[in-house]
Amino acid sequence: MSEPAPDGRSAPSLTSVLTCPHCGHAWAETMPTDACLFFHDCPGCGARLRPKPGDCCVFCSFGSLPCPPVQAARLRAADPGPG
Ligand SMILES: [Zn+2]
Repeated sequence: MSEPAPDGRSAPSLTSVLTCPHCGHAWAETMPTDACLFFHDCPGCGARLRPKPGDCCVFCSFGSLPCPPVQAARLRAADPGPG
């Protein structure tokens, strides 16, 4: 008998939920720590997501969490207020 492995994974800071601006499809994607995802295809409608101007990767533009380097930079900046 073989049982499926229990879901014991816990890496919240590396999993970002991307939301497609075209069809609204949302899905979790694991972020690579050694590279930025500049292009990513939506599994819902197949549209190619690209970062918005000023963002380094699709996670920064469409993800629930920005990429790890940006997370660290934002924590260091600790700059309140918009802008
Ligand atoms: Zn889509």
